[in-house]
Amino acid sequence: ASGGKKLGVALVGLGYYSRDLLAPALQLTEHCELKGIVTGSPDKIPVWQEKYGIKEANVYNYDTMHEIANNPEIDVVYIVVPTGLHKKYAVIAANTGKHVWCEKPMALTPEDCQSIIDACRKNKVKLSVGYRMQHEPNTQTVMQYAQDLPYGAIRTVNTQAAYGGNGLPADNWRMQKDMGGGALYDMGVYTINGARYATGLEPIAVTATRSFDHPKFTEVDNTTHLTLEFPNDILAECMTSVVQSGNQLRVNAENGWYQLKPMSEYSGVQGTTSDGKKLDKYLANQQAKQMDDDALAIINDSPVLVPGEEGMRDIAIVRAAIESSDKEKRISL
Ligand code: NDP
Repeated sequence: ASGGKKLGVALVGLGYYSRDLLAPALQLTEHCELKGIVTGSPDKIPVWQEKYGIKEANVYNYDTMHEIANNPEIDVVYIVVPTGLHKKYAVIAANTGKHVWCEKPMALTPEDCQSIIDACRKNKVKLSVGYRMQHEPNTQTVMQYAQDLPYGAIRTVNTQAAYGGNGLPADNWRMQKDMGGGALYDMGVYTINGARYATGLEPIAVTATRSFDHPKFTEVDNTTHLTLEFPNDILAECMTSVVQSGNQLRVNAENGWYQLKPMSEYSGVQGTTSDGKKLDKYLANQQAKQMDDDALAIINDSPVLVPGEEGMRDIAIVRAAIESSDKEKRISL
């Protein structure tokens, strides 16, 4: 699709994030639009059809979604199901020959991430992971600082991605291990990805402690602390939780500091520096920016900002963090 035509996007999984964030954002995008849905809940179909004018022919369920292969109105299949199901549906999506966008965290294991990458490569389609922060302009300034080092060498990084809560019912996938529930997968990837983009480096070791010290959290962690060791003696302390709050990224460098606070909110991400600069570029809608960036990469056949390999690196660190916590030892990466 080119010549001004918007790419058609099909959302797979019509839960909270699709309903409240992605579908509304797809009304604001310039280069893509909501054209199809894949859902296992028949009751959602008329609601979505009416709200977004989705044609009968563009409505699928999980057993029929492979038929998207024959639908010229769909260019992109966006996987927004529980994390433990990303691999299954992202591979089906790739095999339709359509481009694939996959929500974070990419999948449960690096092997599953690799399966998604391989399926996309085999079908010659693009793959983007839904790390919206990397599309956000103030975050991009911090990423650029990792290259330019305006405050000298980076010494320590502190990241927090956490929301206060009291746990969810046991039948919610966010409370289930096999589905990728728990703080470390759900929110921890923001802290890990943040430490990586704030340094522009790959960690060489992780030491982590997962906590299960809340009555509802027996199967998955409610809070996790990670220490990531980077080259050049840079240390990152990361905290993630779904029972206590925190939302910031701070970099301490040789000659000063800078921080983003909040670091991963849907809007209003902004920063300050030790010499009084404000990192306050305005972005109307993160998800719209992310999807337009990813649509343009398809239209122009240019590299995507957040490829599968980027999602996979964080999942390798998540797995090492789990091993570190279980064995109570430092794990080399
Ligand atoms: P929800 O639980 O609200 O929705 C998930 C949807 O997936 C369900 O409504 C359902 O849709 C579908 N689904 C298919 N199979 C299952 C199953 N076995 N159990 C439960 N649901 C199933 O989750 P979210 O929308 O909050 O999260 C979905 C994904 O998006 C996750 O990977 C999450 O990490 C990511 N996310 C990303 C955010 C970001 O900022 N980038 C923010 C929030 C979430 P249906 O009934 O239509 O089949």
